[in-house]
Amino acid sequence: MFAQQALKSNPLQKGECIHTFGYPFRRGLSGGGFIYCISETRVVIGLIAHLSSEDPQFDPHKELQRYKQHPFINAIIKDGKPTHYGARTLPCGGYYSIPQLTSDGVMITGDSANLVDSRKLKGLHTAIKSGMFAAEVLFEAFRMNDFSATQLAKYEEKLKNSWIYSDLRQSRNFTPAVAMGVPFPGGPLLGFQMVTGGATPIGDLKTKPDYSTTEDMKRFYGSASPQPMPKADDRIIVSKLTDVYFSGTAHDEKQQSHIYLKDEAVCKKCISDYKAPCTLFCPAAVYELEQDKIQVNFSNCMHCKTCDLKCPFQNIVWNLPEGGGGPRYSLQ
Ligand code: SF4
Ligand code: SF4
Repeated sequence: MFAQQALKSNPLQKGECIHTFGYPFRRGLSGGGFIYCISETRVVIGLIAHLSSEDPQFDPHKELQRYKQHPFINAIIKDGKPTHYGARTLPCGGYYSIPQLTSDGVMITGDSANLVDSRKLKGLHTAIKSGMFAAEVLFEAFRMNDFSATQLAKYEEKLKNSWIYSDLRQSRNFTPAVAMGVPFPGGPLLGFQMVTGGATPIGDLKTKPDYSTTEDMKRFYGSASPQPMPKADDRIIVSKLTDVYFSGTAHDEKQQSHIYLKDEAVCKKCISDYKAPCTLFCPAAVYELEQDKIQVNFSNCMHCKTCDLKCPFQNIVWNLPEGGGGPRYSLQ
């Protein structure tokens, strides 16, 4: 997720790019962050938090506010004001999560093909290159009037023989190692990977579906409490609803909700044992707890798809909304 700030005085140079590791992560929270200076007066502050968190009160929006409080970042944005906000899930499963990429009449490219290189914190280059390979194969398919799986498999071959696959292979254990916790036990495994080109001394690391990693309140917190949200000043620390406004998201209120809950009885159990994680992990306050029931404010939705992956009971069905709705991201 990211927030864009307009600055009166900018200590960074246009084009400067800083990646961070560590703060504000702790038990149940892992990932990284970035600071991109996109113009003389604007910076984008972003936080990447793994959805494999065990914390039932995992709230990436709150962590983004805590990230902005770090003295290094605060010194950059202290005279600024928020202008944009957004969130999306990054398919950073990498090498071992690449699906079958071709079939009759089908080629899958870019993020849909899980080509993000989490070690380098980027996926645009692989998305563009995979699109170029797909275009070359499609050009040939048009010439031969052959869109069969056999013809389109040439796209997959091109990918496998390119730097995309060799880069992703070197990153194959990066995300699972970071998700294990840095500096321990993930740090030494990351160091080992740098020397060996991606291997770890304990073999390839296993991953689990994100929804299955959430622990219940008792197990995760015991008698402790979640860290509170820093007090909003709507300048540096911004409330979730104000940030939804900054995302520019809009849907026709008269359309049928594109989100529904499969079984309200399941929610009741979840509210009692997990304290309704959806009310926190959703970066757009779509889910609200009202008198022991979950209310769905679908028109806030920013289409990030976190809820599709992180509801511990897989109780949320997210469909495509009517065309034209959603967040309005711009660089203005
Ligand atoms: S939608 Fe999912 S996360 Fe939210 S209360 Fe229901 S079961 Fe829990
Ligand atoms: S409802 Fe789901 S897809 Fe929409 S913003 Fe919330 S978590 Fe993201």
